Amino acid sequence: MSAAFLNLQEFNKHLKIINTHCHHLPDIEHQHIGLDFILNKSYVSWCKVDYGDTFDKKSEFLRLVRFNAYFHWLEKALCELCGISQNLTAENWSIFDEKIQQLHQNENYHLEILQDRCGYEKVILDPYWNPGSDEGHPGFFTPTYRINMFLYGFNTQAQDHNGNNPYTVYGWESSLTFDEYLAKMKEQIKEHIQSGCVAMKSALAYDRGLDFCETDKEKAKRGFLNPNANAEDIKAFQDYVFFEICNIAAEYNVPLQCHTGLGKLEKSNAMQMQEVIEKNPQTRFVLFHGSYPWIQDLCALIHNYPNVYADICWLPIISGNACETLLKELIEVGTTDRITWGCDTWTSEESFGALLAAKQVVAKVFAEYIDNFYLSLVDAQEFNRQIFYENAKNLYFKS
Ligand SMILES: [Zn+2]
Repeated sequence: MSAAFLNLQEFNKHLKIINTHCHHLPDIEHQHIGLDFILNKSYVSWCKVDYGDTFDKKSEFLRLVRFNAYFHWLEKALCELCGISQNLTAENWSIFDEKIQQLHQNENYHLEILQDRCGYEKVILDPYWNPGSDEGHPGFFTPTYRINMFLYGFNTQAQDHNGNNPYTVYGWESSLTFDEYLAKMKEQIKEHIQSGCVAMKSALAYDRGLDFCETDKEKAKRGFLNPNANAEDIKAFQDYVFFEICNIAAEYNVPLQCHTGLGKLEKSNAMQMQEVIEKNPQTRFVLFHGSYPWIQDLCALIHNYPNVYADICWLPIISGNACETLLKELIEVGTTDRITWGCDTWTSEESFGALLAAKQVVAKVFAEYIDNFYLSLVDAQEFNRQIFYENAKNLYFKS
């Protein structure tokens, strides 16, 4: 470990943080939880390896996931929070479980981890089960407003991947004209921004491709509440609605957070958004997750478009290595004000792990730049503070 790395790790330990993206579950879900709940609500469950309830199955589970990054960082967080120095094994499984349950007897423990251990001053919450909600903690959780459902109002039965549709969520009538639909959508977005949402969020990469094209209104109209609409008409409707959302984001001056990369994989890489980015220069597009695994897509967009921001949320726990590569290229091709970080997790334990992962990557990358005389320790400290705090503050909380 170089002296620069250790110095940055120490400096970053005390940073105030604005976490730009999180799915923290409502208070009630964090009561009386144990190891199983945390694993089930973590990305480790995305590995789709069952750990069952027997000693042998747990051993096999651990053998398989042991070196997966999701597991690695969650385990690190659990060891630190529980004060246990050994790795998780089938033998000590119940020791971890009992310790977690004991800590959660304090019903505010889940918030104390976020505020005291992680040092979050604010968390931008994306509660897709209740779009735009602050889960009863205004000021600390500042919501982003998820807009996916508005692209699924082309008929009353359609749903986005979270099961939402504006006719059911907001009780809209199915006799709306296209203009009335667009006006109602704008009204909903405006109300949410006025009630505290600091951004809009598109998770459309889990629903469809990110190839949003400029479309004329007549064509888009054919896809709206039309029983004879074909796939092309529906895409035209969705593309038009997405462009409208970009307009609204510019008008109300809120950033549009966009999931890019993993998701449906087909057309979910960030370059698919080049047209919509280029044609909406007043909209600030915050592209999430480094467009992983297509990280160079993001570098190209950052290089060419000043209205593109890179939020490295989730990436440090997907692959620290990819995140290092991306961060280096962002330092070199971008500007210091356009990198932010969020945990992108459901539980506080995993959030803490995601933060440890991010700090490790950031310290490692910047230490290398210090050792190569590209920047000084003071420059690196300032840049690190921008990534974890200042840039998010300027992007989302500047009135
Ligand atoms: Zn997310």
